[in-house]
Amino acid sequence: MKTRITELFGIEHPIIQGGMQWVGRAELVSAVSNAGGLGILTGLTQPTPEDLSKEIARTKGMTDKPFAVNLTILPTLRPVPYQEYADVIAESGVKIVETAGRSPEPYMPTFKAAGIKVIHKCTSVRHSVKAEAVGCDAVSVDGFECAGHPGEDDIPGLILLPCTADKISVPFVASGGFGDARGLVAALALGADGINMGSRFMCTKEAPIHDNVKQAMVNADERNTQLTNRTLRNTSRVFKNAIADKVIEIEREKGADLKIEDLAEYLSGQRGKVVFEDGNVDHGIWSAGMIVGLINDVPSCADLVSRIVAEAEDIIGKRLANLTGTAA
Ligand code: NAD
Repeated sequence: MKTRITELFGIEHPIIQGGMQWVGRAELVSAVSNAGGLGILTGLTQPTPEDLSKEIARTKGMTDKPFAVNLTILPTLRPVPYQEYADVIAESGVKIVETAGRSPEPYMPTFKAAGIKVIHKCTSVRHSVKAEAVGCDAVSVDGFECAGHPGEDDIPGLILLPCTADKISVPFVASGGFGDARGLVAALALGADGINMGSRFMCTKEAPIHDNVKQAMVNADERNTQLTNRTLRNTSRVFKNAIADKVIEIEREKGADLKIEDLAEYLSGQRGKVVFEDGNVDHGIWSAGMIVGLINDVPSCADLVSRIVAEAEDIIGKRLANLTGTAA
């Protein structure tokens, strides 16, 4: 399946594993890239720019296929030396970067000087238009269904994707709510050039997270996510658990008086990291998308990618072709 995204990134299949805090490490990234998709290391999962440099080298030792690095620019509890992370990425020889959160404009000169292609995650049409204007080579369009930060507009992919297709020229992938062949075919029909999957790749053999987390996602249905941080206008879709309930309760109680200090102890990514290491799924906040309702197994990345591609070809070549009388 050739699309503008497979051509741009030199990959076999139009399937990207988006950046995920604590999950996007060498084991998963190399498995996705070896399966013919695009694996993405999460820059800020590494505590320092030097650690990121080592993780990039470790990934290179595990795959000779293209992979990318994610740099998320959002509010954090501790200051992040973004330019130093950008410099390390530029010096590493990695040729693709996924940016997310605020505009990547300040770091574009660093990336472009190193010949890096930039794909920016966008949760609105206007952000995609801006990303194209500041020189991004592609965008990843994140609908309201997504895990993590869906923005504040609450527009689902069914509307956001074709609206974006009408307004930009660069290639884009559909993100948020994708996890199977039906989603891939739908995304292509809506104007996208591929899909980005996060939660679906958390439930693979190679994802470096505790098995309890994978099983919780397999057992979950489509109602098992919650939106936290709405009051701070930094909304986050997370797996429904005791800590997410607590955060939402505090947000309701404090209302407009809420400050980040009221939530920090519960929201901290360090607690989420412990969930992934120890498998106590109620210990902290961890991101998950509505797609959990369609995740029913824990395959290898190779099996997952080849299944999605084969079934998508089947849907296009048989089911849809039968409708138009063009089946082979
Ligand atoms: P962290 O421990 O610093 O913060 C935890 C959560 O609180 C994050 O969602 C963060 O955005 C939010 N937050 C922190 N300070 C805030 C403030 N002043 N106002 C409003 N919200 C605030 O973050 P972490 O878990 O170590 O993650 C590091 C980075 O990765 C953050 O930028 C985070 O947003 C990002 N992240 C992105 C995704 C995604 O969907 N792309 C998922 C998880 C984390």
